Amino acid sequence: MELYNFNGVLAIKNVVPKPKAMPTMATVLYRKMHRRLMHVGKATVEEACCRTGIQLTRKNDDLCEGCIVGKKTDEIGKEAPV
Ligand SMILES: [Zn+2]
Repeated sequence: MELYNFNGVLAIKNVVPKPKAMPTMATVLYRKMHRRLMHVGKATVEEACCRTGIQLTRKNDDLCEGCIVGKKTDEIGKEAPV
């Protein structure tokens, strides 16, 4: 409430609080969401973010070192046969 002058008479003005600003849509890197969702595929990351209102950036950055290492079959450092 605040006081104001209404034709020489002090009056009380009800001040309605402004509504809080709507939350803005979150923007997250594709790679970060891929890691947070335990390295799921690109389609799953996109669908999950679409459902929750998260906007993805850098969607072409889908080369993940952890997934590459996890899917490889050869051992690292294994000596070549003589
Ligand atoms: Zn991954």
